[in-house]
Amino acid sequence: MSDTIFTKIINREIPAEILYEDDEILAFSDVSPQAPVHFLVIPKLPIETINDIQPNQAELIGKMVLTAQKLVKEQGVAEGGYRLVMNCNEDGGQTVFHIHMHVLGGRALSWPPG
Ligand code: AMP
Repeated sequence: MSDTIFTKIINREIPAEILYEDDEILAFSDVSPQAPVHFLVIPKLPIETINDIQPNQAELIGKMVLTAQKLVKEQGVAEGGYRLVMNCNEDGGQTVFHIHMHVLGGRALSWPPG
């Protein structure tokens, strides 16, 4: 798999507003925010799509959710509410082929999506 822009962010080859980092996970602000709070949580492991997640990576995916949970508290939107979104492939609107969880909050979000 060729490097995506997220690998470049992990490797600090391009700048990003980093919100959280550990050995396995990185979280950073989305460059094109769709809500007052909009950041991305990614595994450092470059898994291309949700379809490619393996059973032995379940803990890693769980850590993505727990990272989102921690950061929404810090950003002050945990109680008001927020949305976690993972897009997959063309119909899902995926544009960067390194799995990522969008975390959106800070305003009322419409449902269903368009
Ligand atoms: P998706 O359409 O689900 O693949 O989402 C990709 C997201 O990555 C979009 O919301 C983009 O705004 C975001 N994005 C692309 N490039 C960057 C970047 N350099 N820094 C932060 N976010 C980015």
